[in-house]
Amino acid sequence: MASKRPTTPGARKRKRPPQGTPTTGVALDALPVIEASFERSAKGPGDSPADRGREVAFAGRSNAGKSSVLNRITGQRSLARTSKTPGRTQLLNYFRINADACLVDLPGYGYAKTDRGTRDAWQREVEGYLSSRSALIGVVLVMDIRHPFQPFDEQMIAWARASDMPLLLLLNKADKLGFGAASTALQQARQHLKDTPQVHPLLFSALRGQGCEEALTILRGWLELDEATPKVEGDVQV
Ligand code: GDP
Repeated sequence: MASKRPTTPGARKRKRPPQGTPTTGVALDALPVIEASFERSAKGPGDSPADRGREVAFAGRSNAGKSSVLNRITGQRSLARTSKTPGRTQLLNYFRINADACLVDLPGYGYAKTDRGTRDAWQREVEGYLSSRSALIGVVLVMDIRHPFQPFDEQMIAWARASDMPLLLLLNKADKLGFGAASTALQQARQHLKDTPQVHPLLFSALRGQGCEEALTILRGWLELDEATPKVEGDVQV
């Protein structure tokens, strides 16, 4: 349903930091969050929740920090634990926000020792979801800022370009780099994506909260969450 998709990520409400300036982080005792709770795991379209409303999928290579990002955005530790529960790591995990909105944690890609059969099954499952889900209106791709644009990331970006799907690209673990190196990484990402306007790169740190405010603004715009943003007290462990 292309008509539901914003043309640029979060264009309606986004507040941009100055170009090239890493966000310095937000006060940890007053972080806005999107409240969500685990709904179900699914192997594919057959056992997924009804394909309606607005859905944002989270993708990323294993260890890029996808679970930590979900924790940070929802202000919950249990969400990531849910997706990492043995038996659920290779499934689509649905987290409901309200009757019309949910987040989907796609299985992490790239376990070093994954055999061919498992990789093929993963690809079928994720591709099947991406190509068939009408409710999908945006994707968050989590990359480790120190190892960006791996083949899997490029595949996701090519798919977003081909299907005109807004994609929020989180350069996660920005806290691992200094200010200058993080700024350079962001500039390089922007240059790399200059012909892909539907992809919006953002410096992010699930650990420190950097970039969280802007990511939330974008997600809330995509998901049409207009009510007051709930806040969570205290730090969130990743
Ligand atoms: P996933 O496999 O993509 O779900 O990755 P996890 O969320 O489990 O994170 C993998 C590792 O990276 C864990 O040790 C996290 O604590 C760490 N990590 C995740 N996000 C950040 C971050 O923003 N900064 C730092 N320094 N470490 C992070």
